[in-house]
Amino acid sequence: RFEGVTMAPPDPILGVSEAFKADTDPKKLNLGVGAYRTEELQPKVLDVVKKAENLMLERGENKEYLPIEGLAAFNKATAELLLGADNPILQQGRVATIQGLSGTGSLRLAGAFIERYFPGAKVLISSPTWGNHKNIFNDSRVPWSEYRYYDPKTVGLDFDGMIADIKAAPEGTFVLLHGCAHNPTGIDPTPEQWEKIADVIQEKNHIPFFDVAYQGFASGSLDQDASSVRLFAARGMEVFVAQSYSKNLGLYAERVGAINVICSSSDVATRVKSQLKRIARPMYSNPPVHGARIVANVVGDPTLFNEWKVEMEAMAGRIKGVRQKLYDSLSAKDKSGKDWSFILKQIGMFSFTGLNKAQSDNMTDKWHIYMTKDGRISLAGLSLAKCEYLADAIIDSYYN
Ligand code: PMP
Repeated sequence: RFEGVTMAPPDPILGVSEAFKADTDPKKLNLGVGAYRTEELQPKVLDVVKKAENLMLERGENKEYLPIEGLAAFNKATAELLLGADNPILQQGRVATIQGLSGTGSLRLAGAFIERYFPGAKVLISSPTWGNHKNIFNDSRVPWSEYRYYDPKTVGLDFDGMIADIKAAPEGTFVLLHGCAHNPTGIDPTPEQWEKIADVIQEKNHIPFFDVAYQGFASGSLDQDASSVRLFAARGMEVFVAQSYSKNLGLYAERVGAINVICSSSDVATRVKSQLKRIARPMYSNPPVHGARIVANVVGDPTLFNEWKVEMEAMAGRIKGVRQKLYDSLSAKDKSGKDWSFILKQIGMFSFTGLNKAQSDNMTDKWHIYMTKDGRISLAGLSLAKCEYLADAIIDSYYN
């Protein structure tokens, strides 16, 4: 019966980790998946996470089912982290928040909601974007197309192209925006550019749809990294926001995140929430509790909350440190006079090197450096000690 099933291709991001595991060369380096490593290149469990887990054990918390919408204390905390605890939008009850299976699962819920309530509406995604966005909207049967974002000439933002494409999209399009630390490019709009993006989206009656996977992880500040979303929300717009705690709390495998829909009134929010629950119930019934309790405990305890901020700043700081070292190494080794400063301008976990597919293949085949074939490297998987080696590999791949 299953004879007709064909072989699926490996995932372009998670497939890189599989290939890395199979490589026996001691020099090998995994810069594919966006997961934080220590300077010793080991995975990290945050101290605040361990403390929150201890609290949970002490309290003897049970493993009963959560409601469909998830843990109430988590949903409250996550919306407050996103919008700021004193945001009037929260007091007005205008946000429908339900816990999702991390960023991916929350985006998938949004996809199902759009398909059901906005038949025919399109999602506009950046070119390039995180690869899974296309899969998510394909599987949700939501049509998508791309807006210009990356300019290979400047290794920067094609702002005019972006604005023109958002303007040209049919009214009522969902415009997917990366809240901060754009993946894969590491290139974010400036605050002035965000204002202009909001102007065009408002003019065209589009719906902004934020993917917030790196709050606090990009700049080290939770508030600064949410400023794009808050700017749109403060204009009174209706906004979709998917959140993830994979990176900023290092809860990758716990699958904790949320979908928030900022609505025009509390009445609308109540109805939207009821429909999100209706979508979640036959998909996975209700979300897992462990990660949500960790988030609620960390955010709900002022001491742990402050410790989290310190640990998050340290992670963001370590990444900035290797970014600087990589730039210094490239600039010192490259005798051609090429300007590598675009690496310093990028933010977040990734750097978009500008290496093409053949050059990225050379990085892996010759140098045992694993990365996605679009030229993206995860600096979170890089140590200071490995920067020189990486710079040698990039220069060799770039010029040969
Ligand atoms: N969106 C973007 C842009 C991402 O980079 C990621 C993680 N790589 C996610 C969403 C979702 O990740 P997760 O499902 O682990 O929260």
